[in-house]
Amino acid sequence: MNITTTIPFVDLHLQHQPIQTQMEEAVRGVIQRGDFILGKAVAEFEAAFASDSGVSYGIGVASGTDAIALGLEACGIGTGDEVILPTNTFIATLIGVIRAGAKPILVDCDPQTALIDLKAAEKAITPQTKAIIPVHLYGQMVSPRQLRDFADAHNLIIFEDAAQAHLAEREGYRGGSVGKAAAFSFYPSKNLGALGDGGMVITNDEAVAQKMRSLRNYGSPRKYYHTEPGTNSRLDTLQAAVLNIKLPHLADWNSSRNQAAAKYDTLLEALRSMGIFPMQNQSGKGHIYHLYVVRITEPCPLDRQTIQDKLAAIGIQTGIHYPIPCHLQPAFENLGYRMGDFPQAETLAQEILSLPMYPGISDTQIHQVVDALHSLCV
Ligand SMILES: *Cc1c(COP(=O)(O)O)cnc(C)c1O
Repeated sequence: MNITTTIPFVDLHLQHQPIQTQMEEAVRGVIQRGDFILGKAVAEFEAAFASDSGVSYGIGVASGTDAIALGLEACGIGTGDEVILPTNTFIATLIGVIRAGAKPILVDCDPQTALIDLKAAEKAITPQTKAIIPVHLYGQMVSPRQLRDFADAHNLIIFEDAAQAHLAEREGYRGGSVGKAAAFSFYPSKNLGALGDGGMVITNDEAVAQKMRSLRNYGSPRKYYHTEPGTNSRLDTLQAAVLNIKLPHLADWNSSRNQAAAKYDTLLEALRSMGIFPMQNQSGKGHIYHLYVVRITEPCPLDRQTIQDKLAAIGIQTGIHYPIPCHLQPAFENLGYRMGDFPQAETLAQEILSLPMYPGISDTQIHQVVDALHSLCV
């Protein structure tokens, strides 16, 4: 293999370069207006992002983690409540539940999609179960129809972790429009990313929206009058101004990711017999491929770690999302889970590899990645 240029895991320059001047002007505008906290750009971005997602209200917060913690609280979920979530998610989903004061109940996943296994979730229901958090992992939504049937049958609140699913679609729903409320992250490498941290809760429920506005702003419906112990977690006006410039490009960026995924899918067919194949897409073009994840399984002669190291040695960067499921993280030992509790998630954690994926990745680069995988396995 002679790959001359490094293939990064994510390349943000490609999306920033064409809009750099506009972003600079937007930042300059905020400096001139001086409305740094909950300024004009925040309200504009909240309205635009909620509307694009097919929902009435958006409330900007400081991060996706805060969006989960405060969003759950705004939905009335807290002490004494059990919340079901998948163990194979980014740790922030679990942290959000614990910060809201609720008891997290972890469940296993479907190995074909890596999405939450609703049959496993059903078995985890108790009289204390109040909510389920579907994580739309890698940019693919958990089936809205199945989710709503599930939640209706058991009288549960759906709170979506849509941090990887900005404008994803499935069965006529957009990411974040399925449940009572949803959390988004604008961490720089998400499909819609700020130039720093940011997050949002979206909802159709006016009471939840009002409670969120209070919670993120010291629990004060008006200045110096506090009706609840809230916190300080606001989306910065500077970040909102940048996000306002980026949002109109999101659909194009998502479709660019989709095209890249289709290219990967086609080329990877040749590797299926060697035990390398992508996670299943059950949503067609509604999958927005925040990540493009393959599994490395029998009879592949090399294990995942060896493959990742060998790719790195020739300049191809990859990732693992995520190497340790939540139930095996040392910080959460006190939850009482053990190795063996969630076999699908544990196996996936050993097999998954996220390939380079970002809007504008070229067909040539995708060819190089798949060729490299191929030559490692023959
Ligand atoms: C990124 C992410 C979060 C957390 O978002 P932050 O903005 O980093 O706090 C939560 N859940 C999932 C699934 C994520 O990918």
